[in-house]
Amino acid sequence: MKRWETIIIGGGLAGLTAALELTQNGVDVLVIEKNTYPKHKVCGEYLSGEVVPYLESMGIDLSDAVKIDTLEISSRSGKSLKTRLPLGGIGISRYALDQRMYMEAKATGADFKFSTVTKVEFENEEFIVHTVENEVLQAPVLIGAYGKRSNLDKNLGREFIKQRAPWLGVKSHYRYRGFDDNLVGVHSFDGGYGGLSKTESGLVNFCYLANYEIFKKYGDIETFNHRVVAENPRLKSLLEKGEPEFDKPISIAQVSFQKKMQVENHVLMCGDAAGLIHPLCGNGMAMAIHSGRIASQFIYRFLADQNFDRSAMELAYIQTWNQNFGKRLRWGRYLQDLILNPFMSNLAIRSLTQFDSITRAIIKRTHGKPIEIS
Ligand SMILES: Cc1cc2nc3c(=O)[nH]c(=O)nc-3n(C[C@H](O)[C@H](O)[C@H](O)COP(=O)(O)OP(=O)(O)OC[C@H]3O[C@@H](n4cnc5c(N)ncnc54)[C@H](O)[C@@H]3O)c2cc1C
Repeated sequence: MKRWETIIIGGGLAGLTAALELTQNGVDVLVIEKNTYPKHKVCGEYLSGEVVPYLESMGIDLSDAVKIDTLEISSRSGKSLKTRLPLGGIGISRYALDQRMYMEAKATGADFKFSTVTKVEFENEEFIVHTVENEVLQAPVLIGAYGKRSNLDKNLGREFIKQRAPWLGVKSHYRYRGFDDNLVGVHSFDGGYGGLSKTESGLVNFCYLANYEIFKKYGDIETFNHRVVAENPRLKSLLEKGEPEFDKPISIAQVSFQKKMQVENHVLMCGDAAGLIHPLCGNGMAMAIHSGRIASQFIYRFLADQNFDRSAMELAYIQTWNQNFGKRLRWGRYLQDLILNPFMSNLAIRSLTQFDSITRAIIKRTHGKPIEIS
């Protein structure tokens, strides 16, 4: 049976960050990813500035990304406010970002296997990982960085997977002249909201989250866009004047914002597998990257220091994860409730237009400080 010091399930942002951190510290790592790179993913592609210097320090080239410093929010009737983002961020496609991180992790020495993990077991202080090709792989440490929802959540008996998740994510890139480079927009419609921002390719990414109960009344994305999304004047303009780049939008169903455990059956969960923040906060990617880094630092210590045992590693990870992300997730929930309520979102936008400092204080609550570079 092949053995590594750490196996990472999922080569998205959390898994790739952990792979980079661990290999740079001499840990023998295998990443198992079900898709090959590069690949488009459902994501708003606005990356918070809190992780930009950190990623660059890890060797990721972000020089072509679009600098974003202004947020525009609009209610479904078109009432809007603009505010400067305290930290700002960049626009970069997942197609480019994941590919660049993969290339760097590979160059640093991480092993990659392109396959789907079907089952994990923990016996005698070792994880046994099964792939769809019936391969069996082994490691003393396992990171679950497999995203929002996976077959593995059932295998691990996770609580959140037993509940229905009513959210659908849809994304497409558009040629859309006149859209400001420095702007990220969050625009609401009945039962959902969409983000607009430019990526390194010059195209505008439009990604939205919609309540499935409302969506299914319209049957397909085109009708829903036309009848519901386009109610918001900002989104109507994009849908009428923009030229879609994809043959058809990509989508994911059953997006869950339920609370999750950060450690399940001794697997350290990172990124969305540990907890997903509401996308309107624009920092799920930053949290995924940050959590991959935090987990790696404790794993490195566990592998190197006999006095830091598995339970100490797990406890340290859970505590540090909650210190960093617990409050943000709560604020994300309040904000999502506000923007989805037609009356409240109009009222809030009208009031916040007059108090820019309050808007910025709210944004700060959903974001962290920039990651310190060691
Ligand atoms: C609609 C929407 C808009 C968003 N917009 C933004 C935004 O603008 N800014 C922002 O910061 N965040 C945004 N987010 C959140 C962000 O996309 C996620 O937080 C981020 O992608 C999490 O990264 P991850 O590494 O945890 O998961 P992922 O990037 O999803 O990676 C998980 C990987 O695991 C692989 N995998 C899954 N199961 C298995 C298996 N069994 N075996 C092997 N591999 C497996 C998958 O193929 C995938 O590559 C948005 C989310 C949604 C839903």
